[in-house]
Amino acid sequence: MTSTQRAAAAVATCPSCGTRNRVPVARRGRVRCASCHAFLPWIVDADDATFDDAVVHSSLPVLVDVWAPWCGPCRAIAPVVEQLARERAGELKVAKVNADVSPQVSARHGVTGIPTLLLYANGAEAARTVGAVPAPQLRSWLDASLAAAGSTGAAADAR
Ligand SMILES: [Zn+2]
Repeated sequence: MTSTQRAAAAVATCPSCGTRNRVPVARRGRVRCASCHAFLPWIVDADDATFDDAVVHSSLPVLVDVWAPWCGPCRAIAPVVEQLARERAGELKVAKVNADVSPQVSARHGVTGIPTLLLYANGAEAARTVGAVPAPQLRSWLDASLAAAGSTGAAADAR
């Protein structure tokens, strides 16, 4: 490992019962509320050191949000990305990558502008969209991309 600080866990508030849960950055499967066992929205911070664990090795599809603190359009879409994570709790993981401190992630994916959203499915990039896309368009893009990638998340469990 490098000296990059590893984010060990994030905190998610359960949408069902309000319990605050620590959720791991890198874990396969899904995350559930310790109290009521509802699926939790799973939003983590990833960087050059944790990207493979958090994104590439995830068994859930991962929406990667490449952003930077100084980027206005990034701030504009951040709430939309968080909303998508809540809507798709148990089906989708979201990884936020600060481009300023994670140059390797950008280089590896040829990211030249932010915000860039990458959809990872089955360990590979399946789709991307660049720029501040309006919420309805972003939701449509995500749904179409997930369907094309064959990762419909919890659909199999719902039967
Ligand atoms: Zn709960």
